[in-house]
Amino acid sequence: MFKGILIEKDGDDYSARVAELDEGQLPEGDTTVRVDYSTINYKDALAITGKGPVVRRFPMVPGIDLAGTVEETTAPGLSPGDRVVLNGWGVGETHWGGLAQRARLKGEWLIPLPERFSTRDAMAIGTAGYTAMLCVMALERNGVTPDRGDVLVTGAGGGVGGFAIALLSHLGYRVIAATGRTQEADYLHGLGAAEIIDRAELSGAGKPLGKERWAGAVDTAGSHTLANVCAGTRYGGTVAACGLAQGMDLPATVAPFILRGVTLAGVDSVMRPREDRLEAWGRLADSLDEGVLETIAGEIGLEAVIPGASALMAGEVRGRRVVDVNR
Ligand code: NDP
Repeated sequence: MFKGILIEKDGDDYSARVAELDEGQLPEGDTTVRVDYSTINYKDALAITGKGPVVRRFPMVPGIDLAGTVEETTAPGLSPGDRVVLNGWGVGETHWGGLAQRARLKGEWLIPLPERFSTRDAMAIGTAGYTAMLCVMALERNGVTPDRGDVLVTGAGGGVGGFAIALLSHLGYRVIAATGRTQEADYLHGLGAAEIIDRAELSGAGKPLGKERWAGAVDTAGSHTLANVCAGTRYGGTVAACGLAQGMDLPATVAPFILRGVTLAGVDSVMRPREDRLEAWGRLADSLDEGVLETIAGEIGLEAVIPGASALMAGEVRGRRVVDVNR
């Protein structure tokens, strides 16, 4: 037996609880992992609270990421005892996920943990840090270098936003952080933000083109915010769009793209090919300054996950929550 969060649905009745689960209930897979840590990502909070259609099969163990040790495997290239990290691949949506003490998965989904990181570090970073790194890579691939101008990060007080600030500032970019929590200025400056703006500046209906303010952006909000971020991007700049914290819509015009040559680079972490994952985790190991993980991530146990998901949806969580699934 092992413990995990279980989401069930019976008609309109949607519920999540901490449950005692049997190994026999685990889904099919060639690899069993003893999970040390998982996290609460925005998507997990949507799944646990039922506020978004994340879960596609019931009952479901949520948790789109996990870090732990391989217990049994028949997958090529893996051995019992290997320390691994997993992000996405539909885990926590269509396949039982990381918010439990055991997971059974496809070995090909697992990435070896860089030497520098403990399993706790891996989940302090989690899908948020990995996605932030993918956004940085998208800016770099499109030629946004520190000398081209400032880079804006929206949703700065959240998980992806915090890591994007820390990574960009480490790489020499001047970072503008957009937040609804300007009272968290010290925290954001501590991560490396040079300037802080109120997210309200970006969240209403805007003009097709605005003043050219940033050479690049990492956007976690979508909706009007993303439209305004594109409208404020300098000639030839790039916006890496990964989130929908404000909304899934995009009430924009093509003006930034056809008049300023702005690139809108979509970033998906879930189905990302393995080479990009290895590159992103390798670069995280090289680029995260000491102390960043302690600044961004707090820790909770499994029992605190369900209230923690509600708090995240209410915008009350700064940074991230690592979940020790064994306490
Ligand atoms: P968090 O909840 O940690 O952060 C989201 C942040 O967005 C909040 O902290 C808040 O920051 C800001 N925000 C909340 N509501 C609004 C709003 N109405 N308008 C503008 N900003 C708002 O989530 P994550 O960092 O884990 O994820 C951020 C987004 O990225 C989510 O939409 C998530 O689904 C998406 N995502 C996508 C991935 C992909 O593969 N494409 C992978 C990972 C995440 P503040 O208080 O500072 O304003």
